[in-house]
Amino acid sequence: MSGSTIVPWVIGNWKMNPTRAASEQWTQEFKKILQQTSIKETKCRLAIAPIFIALSEINSQLQDSASPVNIVAQDVSRFAATGAYTGEISADLLTDYGIQYVLIGHSERRELLGDHAPVLADKLRLALKAGLTVIYCVGESLEQREQGIADAVVLQQICDIAAVVEDHQWQTQMIIAYEPIWAIGTGKTASAQDAQSMHEKIRAGLLQLTAHGANIAILYGGSVKPENAKELAACADINGALVGGASLNAHSFYQIADAFAQ
Ligand code: PEP
Repeated sequence: MSGSTIVPWVIGNWKMNPTRAASEQWTQEFKKILQQTSIKETKCRLAIAPIFIALSEINSQLQDSASPVNIVAQDVSRFAATGAYTGEISADLLTDYGIQYVLIGHSERRELLGDHAPVLADKLRLALKAGLTVIYCVGESLEQREQGIADAVVLQQICDIAAVVEDHQWQTQMIIAYEPIWAIGTGKTASAQDAQSMHEKIRAGLLQLTAHGANIAILYGGSVKPENAKELAACADINGALVGGASLNAHSFYQIADAFAQ
């Protein structure tokens, strides 16, 4: 457990998973676990990011769970409001459908789907304007780490959004997720020391950008599982986890959340 006063977040990123039947089973199982041992919202905040078409359905399935489970969209359009943008979902439509959180800048979108800095800036601006809370992902590739430029890459990704985020929005609408790309879905986790060391640098960067820098949650993501969650949760600047693979199992997701709630 860290000495920080930031309430940790544990967020499951379901990516392009699972089937409708499997997600219904997940929500039932997770609700049953929470009935036996709930997690206080003041100790750890929970969220999951399902596929777009399941957001409303899963939101209603989890309405009556013993601990609140927030619903996160995995992406948002760079275009505003409503209009002729086939296939897109705007920030305004997300809030209209009762969604309050969104992931922006996940490395899979940066690498595979053309989410480069200017696109991300557009998405972030509109999401914040619509009142969404943004989990903004940053992280270096293995090549960048081996070249010794990991810190510079990550800090630049944060500087890229400095002009977009207004000071009050840092306080209420921003969460940062540090996800070293080489650790995502690979089973390789950054050691707790390496993760903490990067989180410390991100914290220092945030303190330079905003007076609210000390209060912004910085989550770690990259092969977080029940086996390594406690060690990560013990680091002073790791304020939660963004969990991919392990979040698809309700019991594993619970154990990770429980580690951060201690
Ligand atoms: C992710 O996709 O955000 C992630 C961290 O995945 P995994 O936990 O599977 O590495």
